[in-house]
Amino acid sequence: MSATELDFKSGDQLSPRSILIWRIVQAAVWLVGAVILVCLLFFPPVGVLLFWNILIPVAPALFVVATGVWRNVCPLATTILLPRHLGLSKRKRLSLKQLGKLNLIAVITLFVIVPLRHAVFNNNGTATGLLIISMVFVGLIMGFFYEWKSAWCSGLCPVHPVEKLYGANVFMSMPNAHCHQCMNCVVPCPDSTSNINAVHPTKTNYHLLSGLLITGGLPGFIWGWFHVPDETTITTVSTFLSVYKMPMIGFSATLLLYVILSSVLRPQFERPLISIFAASGVSCYYWYRIPSLFGFGDFGEDGLLLNLQNKLPEWGFTAITITTTLFFFYWLLIRKQNNRSWVIRPQYGNK
Ligand code: SF4
Repeated sequence: MSATELDFKSGDQLSPRSILIWRIVQAAVWLVGAVILVCLLFFPPVGVLLFWNILIPVAPALFVVATGVWRNVCPLATTILLPRHLGLSKRKRLSLKQLGKLNLIAVITLFVIVPLRHAVFNNNGTATGLLIISMVFVGLIMGFFYEWKSAWCSGLCPVHPVEKLYGANVFMSMPNAHCHQCMNCVVPCPDSTSNINAVHPTKTNYHLLSGLLITGGLPGFIWGWFHVPDETTITTVSTFLSVYKMPMIGFSATLLLYVILSSVLRPQFERPLISIFAASGVSCYYWYRIPSLFGFGDFGEDGLLLNLQNKLPEWGFTAITITTTLFFFYWLLIRKQNNRSWVIRPQYGNK
């Protein structure tokens, strides 16, 4: 048994030592986030490099392997949960329907914002910084009113649907470094439910629709997104809207395929089907993203981190992307479901 598991078993409180360690890690990651935000606003080229070309490319793999680590240290979560940690939140409870609506809005927001990277954010650190600040503002307001992670981290955060899709079979359960006690504020709690996925359990039609859109639509959306160059001079509305064309074509194609397959396959094949779509989405992301980070992308310097074109052969990157694809299919589809949640549920508390 690992040290982490020894420190924190299901239903236990975190030991003072573990709390201290997690607070230090949260503070360190929060500082990194703050530095990136300052760079985005005041040194945009550096901020864009740090945010879009280092932090964001790491995130999908982290969601697949250890979603709980990110849930514990996400700097946005640390900020918006501050009112709750400081006893300043009204700790209201959202109804299932409200939670379902927030989940659906989160998915739609994701599909609206991500293509705008090509039109605005990939080349504009200030705009990216303002986007992050607006998310902090909305999340913080929600944090003042609603219990723990219910409203933002498990509700309106546009990254959360991706966590649920990719984080269906994590390596191990982390201790919950935010909720002191479980107030059962989200049902089912994505953090504390074993092998949660984007589709099940389906509580309302809003949950059903959001699960359907993210699971079926994301792989094609990612494929389409990588077939659009960054636009540096948006002068017309049609150029602006053109950044949506390929992502939406891909989104519609895989969503239709998912709907057909899930309606003809027997119920016992539903989970493997979700895993195939999740593995396809994350594999597709790295299939295109890794080469573009190192100068082998289809659109010149778009998304470039370090140009290795004259230093490494292209087949090396082909080998890497084949390896990452095999890894994600193994991890999400072939590997046995291990009944682990992202984090361990703390003991229940009384309101
Ligand atoms: S662990 Fe409990 S209190 Fe924390 S987010 Fe999940 S349901 Fe809410």
